[in-house]
Amino acid sequence: MFNSKSEMRRVNAMMGHSSNIIRNMCKCAKCGDIIESKHRHDWVECKCGAIFTDGGTEYLHRGGVDFKDIIDMTEWRVPPSNVPKPPERSEG
Ligand SMILES: [Zn+2]
Repeated sequence: MFNSKSEMRRVNAMMGHSSNIIRNMCKCAKCGDIIESKHRHDWVECKCGAIFTDGGTEYLHRGGVDFKDIIDMTEWRVPPSNVPKPPERSEG
């Protein structure tokens, strides 16, 4: 929990920067594969290809056939109270 609005704003601002992501990891709900993007342009897909992560410790670039299959395992320096969820899409 954050004690003040300014503290929350500071953390939100950090989320877009490399300083706040220790490990860009997520798990596929379909095949159970745990994937980690280690560099900014390190695009990693799970075994079954349902999800991917990218961006390394620069930013979280996630996607997949269904966002529900993405189990977030990101390690943060400062745990964000409100991790932005991937945008809802109705394609497919
Ligand atoms: Zn998978």
